Formats: sequence, structure tokens, C-alpha cells
Amino acid sequence: MRIFLEQKRYQLLNMPNKIIIAIDGYSSCGKSTLAKSLAAKLAYVFIDTGAMYRAVALYFLRNNIDFDNEAQIVKALEEIKLNFVYNASSLKSDMVLNGENVEAEIREMRVSEKVSEVATIGPVRDFAVAQQQAMGEYKGIVMDGRDIGTVVFPTAELKIFVTADPAIRVERRFLELQITNPTIRKEEIEANLQHRDLMDTTRERSPLKQAEDAIVLDNTNMTREEQFNLALSWALAKIG
Ligand code: C5P
Repeated sequence: MRIFLEQKRYQLLNMPNKIIIAIDGYSSCGKSTLAKSLAAKLAYVFIDTGAMYRAVALYFLRNNIDFDNEAQIVKALEEIKLNFVYNASSLKSDMVLNGENVEAEIREMRVSEKVSEVATIGPVRDFAVAQQQAMGEYKGIVMDGRDIGTVVFPTAELKIFVTADPAIRVERRFLELQITNPTIRKEEIEANLQHRDLMDTTRERSPLKQAEDAIVLDNTNMTREEQFNLALSWALAKIG
């Protein structure tokens, strides 16, 4: 797998003091954009854990899995193989579900509407977290999600908790989704973000919360570049 070959390559280059950078925060705060650019700058591997939950949700939707039927869920998880494959045009990895590139489909509204429900299911979290922890074995990663600094890598050297004003988040998401879905309405996006925030912060297993040792990054009034420069300065200070 490309992602692991890259990890190995940088391991061979024997880069000093590689760290784990954990980026958590609410939906549509720009976590992935930040994580992606940091990883590119540091020659680290970027891992979008939300894509993993989205791919599981897509599989469950396609196969009519009953979210309340644990036996059915456990059996379905045994049939799911997730991989990341590098996409040179987007400079990030696409999500591959059982050999099929589902990067575009997992971003669709029907998946966004169900993913947070799927992400509350214990066996789903065990399934995803085990793979995420394995990907960080050699460090040199930037991972974004909801529970990276609290559960997946509680000893990560740098933890960033990203926030932004809700209205700004809706606006940014609207501009992004409009490209592929010109009929999408802002109200629909706002409702979806509110729903996911509520599910993510109130669930029993691994709720979204700021790790005690995380640095808060409120990017409401920041450009992407300003946000990137600030986070990069924190990362370089840790790397030494
Ligand atoms: O990051 P993204 O918005 O694509 O994530 C989709 C959903 O996956 C989130 O709303 C959340 O419910 C779930 N998720 C999670 N834990 C993570 C990453 C994502 O529960 N580490």
C-alpha cells in the first residue's frame, strides 16, 4: 500500500525525531485542509480518519445493515477492507473500500447524514481505531478526526483542537459542496453540521472533546495560510 511504502521510505531516510500530530475538532472546521498541508510540508503521512467512518457507513447503507443489530454489524465489518491510495492530483490519499475508490461517494449527503450514527457503534470504533493505531507505529503522521488526541494517540507529541464560528463553517462547507452539488442548500448543510456535532460530542464511546494538553486553534478569522503557518511553528518546535 502506497501509504505504508511512503512511511517506510521516510523511515529509511532516518529523519530525526518524527512525531505524531493529532488534529481534532468539529465538522467542517478545516482540519483536513490543515492536516494535509502540514503533512506535505513535513513529508509526513496524512490520514483522514473521517474517511474511514464514512466508508464503513457507505458499506452499511449499500448492504442495508441494521445499525441496531450487533451480530450483523460484526459480520459486515469482517467483510470490509479499507485502504488509502495516493491521488497525485489532490495530493492526498483517496479512500478505497474493498478495492473500489469511493472517495467521491463518501462525501455525498446521504453518507454525511448517517456517518455520525455509524461512528457511535462500539465495534465500528474498535475496527477503525485499531487500523489507525497501526498506521502510526512509525510516527511521522498527521491524523485528523474527533478522538485522535484523546483515544487513538493519547501520547501524541502535538495535539491541535480546531474550532471556528458555526456560520463560517457552514459557509465554507457550502462553497465546497456546491462544486459537485449545485442544488445543495445552506439550511441542509447547517442542519447536518449541527446534527453531527451533537452526535459526536454526546456519544458514549470516544466523544469529541479537547484533550487536556491540546492547543486550541480558532481559525474563524484566519486565512488558510495564517492557520498553516501557526500550526507549522508548533510542529517545528516539537520536532526540534
Ligand atoms: O471528518 P469527517 O467530517 O469526514 O468525519 C465524518 C464523521 O465521522 C464525523 O462526523 C464523526 O461522526 C465521525 N468521526 C469519528 N471519529 C473520527 C473521525 C470521524 O467519530 N476520528
